[in-house]
Parts: sequence; structure tokens; C-alpha cells
Amino acid sequence: MLKLDFHPSGRHFLQIPGPSPVPDRILRAMSLPTIDHRGPEFGALGLELLAKVKKVFKTEHPVIIYPASGTGAWEAALANTMSPGDQVLMFETGHFATLWQKMALRLSLVPEFIGLPGYEGWRQGVQADMIQERLNNDPEHAIKAVCVVHNETSTGVTSDIAAVRRAIDATGHPALLIVDTISGLASADYRHDEWGVDVTVSGSQKGLMLPPGISFNALSPKAIEVSQHAKLPRSFWAWDEILEANQRGYWPYTPSTNLLYGLNEALDMLLDEGIDHVLARHQRWAAGVRTAVEAWGLEVQCQDPALYSPVLTGVVMPEGVDADEIRKIIYERFDLSLGMGLGKAKGKMFRIGHLGDCNDLTLIATLGGCEAGMKLAGVNLQGSGVTAALDYFANNPLSTGTSER
Ligand SMILES: *Cc1c(COP(=O)(O)O)cnc(C)c1O
Repeated sequence: MLKLDFHPSGRHFLQIPGPSPVPDRILRAMSLPTIDHRGPEFGALGLELLAKVKKVFKTEHPVIIYPASGTGAWEAALANTMSPGDQVLMFETGHFATLWQKMALRLSLVPEFIGLPGYEGWRQGVQADMIQERLNNDPEHAIKAVCVVHNETSTGVTSDIAAVRRAIDATGHPALLIVDTISGLASADYRHDEWGVDVTVSGSQKGLMLPPGISFNALSPKAIEVSQHAKLPRSFWAWDEILEANQRGYWPYTPSTNLLYGLNEALDMLLDEGIDHVLARHQRWAAGVRTAVEAWGLEVQCQDPALYSPVLTGVVMPEGVDADEIRKIIYERFDLSLGMGLGKAKGKMFRIGHLGDCNDLTLIATLGGCEAGMKLAGVNLQGSGVTAALDYFANNPLSTGTSER
């Protein structure tokens, strides 16, 4: 039975890899009165945030904002560019790649799901050479899009999107490159234009530090061109009407006004700090958390050090230990939420989110909860991860800029 009167003292530790903690500054911005979404004030706000959001995607081209969770923006990316029966090449990096592939099936596309065999594939990133080989064997250009996940939230493994672009270019194949960086944006390095991405899909409740409820499609000129002939049915998701209304800062239907106040505040926070500083902060936190995992004598889910996620770390449990049991103890005893193992990783690992509004000491507390919970469950730890991470943070100050906030 859910106890609705359960309010423990202090702050809950929301250390799942999305939704991430929402800073008070953003909560305050969202608490302002809702305004007329057809009035002049709203148009000015719309124009301002549509311009600012491009900087986070590192694009000069339009970014569409939907009143929907990330899943909606996944659907929008496919519905605007594909026609029924189109073949799409997708790469199995983990649970989210798998869900996107299932969506493609439901949308009457023909996804081809390639990847490294077995569970090991869930510990590695996208293999650009496999994509290159497959496109080389498609002389008729039946494949219309290559769809990959940039930061696989189920495993804590990133993928080299620039390498995927190079692989596609090496074959001269015209397929679109569609990338999910729902959990990567504003925490992991991402460059829509430079990497030649045609549609980037993202969401609000991860690196952007907002509550769930808005999501994004960043476009390329080629994607906009292709959308003019693509035949999958779409109405709510259709780019054309949104792009038209966005020119004046409006939407064809009621946008999520208060979430957009929050987005405007989040963009100010990120751009004032500087995106590069934000990214460096996440790299450092991730390195500190990995130091703790190593001190415990446990394994990180990601097996390629070049692809460690700055957003989250997957902690693999020893054989015979149920990760969900550990998470339950940690939640009940220390009011700390960790991400569960999803899909093929269920019960094998838990995930520590270190994205958005964190700092060294919230992560030390998080690692403290993990360490105490594992000890309570009888997991044999080699040493103290908390002490190791504390030393790491003390000895490795953030080198760029002056402030962590
Ligand atoms: C969170 C997430 C999604 C799903 O987004 P929702 O907002 O839950 O619909 C898809 N892909 C990735 C990589 C994610 O992290």
C-alpha cells in the first residue's frame, strides 16, 4: 500500500539517471502564473528560447519543442521522415535502443536491429564498422535511416556519433542519421551540426534539469527536405505547422507554458556557466563515482573506457546478488533512489545518476547510501568507495572556471 503521508525529513536523493533533481531556481521560474499562449508576451518568450535552445544542441538549424516525454519525440523523428514499409537500420546498445526498435515496428517500419552478440553488446557502444558494412551491402539504398542512441541510459555507455557519420559518408549512402540523446544532452558532449546528424531526439528531465514533459527534435536541412515527401501519417507531430508557427514564437496548439518558463531558466543557467564547463563537471563526477566502484572491487557495466558515460554509471553486482534487492534496501533505509537494471540487465546491476543539479557532496552521500546498503545486504566489498571518491574529489578540483554551481 502506498503511504501518501510518507514524508521523511530532509531531501530525497533522486539519483536515477532521469528524472534528475530540479534546481530550486527552475522550480521558482515554473511557479509563475500561466500566460496567454497567443499573447505578445508569449511570442517574445518563444522566440527567445527557440534561439537559445539551439546553442545546447550546437546547431544553427531549427529545434522543435513538443509537449511530450522523450518517447513522443522518438515517434516524431520517425513519423516526419519515414514512409510505411521503409527499412531503418538500428543498433542494439541496450534497453532504450530496443524500445525504439519496437516503436519502429509499431509504426509499420521495417527495422533491422544489428549489434554485438548476447549481453556483451550491452557493455559496448555502437560499432560504426558494422553500420558501414551493412550500408555497403545496400546498393539499392533501401535503408532510409540509421538510428542510434548516443547515451544508452540503461547501461551507462556512450557512442561515438562522429564515427557513425564517417561510416555513413564512407559508403556514400543517403540514409538519414537519427540520434537519441535524450539523456546525453547538456551532460555529455553533443554536436548536432558538426557531427552531421539529421534528427536529434532529446528530452527535458535529464541533463536539462527540468521535470518530465517536454522533448525535442533538432533538424537538419536534409531532414526538413525529406519530411516534405515522407508518407507516415502525422498530425500532432508534424514539423511543418510547428516550424511555421515557431517563426513568430508560437505553437499550433497549447504548449507547456510553465515547463517552457523552466526551460528558459535552465538554458540561462547552462549558457551562463558555459556548456564546456557543464560537461567538464559531469566528466569529473563520473570519474569520482568510478573510483568508488573500483575501490569496492566491483565492475562498471561499460567495458570501453573511451565510452564511459558522464551521465550515469552502471554498477555490476557480483554473481548471485540481486541488484533490485540492494536498491530496495537503499531506498527504504536511506531515502535514496537508484536506477534499476532494465531489460537484459534486470537484477544484474544498478545505475547511479550523476547528472544535472548534483555536487561533490550529494554524490558522496549517494555513494554512502550505496556502500551501506550493499554492506547490509552482505555484499563483500574490497574497500570503501566513499573514501576513495572523497579523495578523488579533494585531489582533483575542476580545472575550468571558478565555481561548481
Ligand atoms: C529516458 C530515455 C528515453 C525515454 O524518454 P521518456 O521521457 O521516458 O519518454 C529514451 N531514450 C533514452 C536514451 C532515455 O534516456
